[in-house]
Amino acid sequence: MGECLKCGACCKFVAFTVSDMTPDRRDYYQTKGFRVEGSTILIPHISKQLNEDNTCKVHDNKPKICAEFTGQKEGYVVPRGCGYEESTGKEC
Ligand code: SF4
Repeated sequence: MGECLKCGACCKFVAFTVSDMTPDRRDYYQTKGFRVEGSTILIPHISKQLNEDNTCKVHDNKPKICAEFTGQKEGYVVPRGCGYEESTGKEC
């Protein structure tokens, strides 16, 4: 099942999926410095709510997407080393 190790990695990028990813589009995104995994583009972005010790400034009132993250939902990207990584077999 896995558990959060409080590494903060999931708060340091934004991922979105492009439904019609083509090799040309993949090349384009990569030339812009973005990492592409399949149809998913990963853009480095550190959450403004992340404290230096990887705790969340708004933990008790954080956005739903953060509160529900366990890597179990389709489309979620699980960072390497995430405590949920082994339970999903996925990584980014
Ligand atoms: S990447 Fe995984 S282990 Fe690290 S803070 Fe996010 S949920 Fe927790």
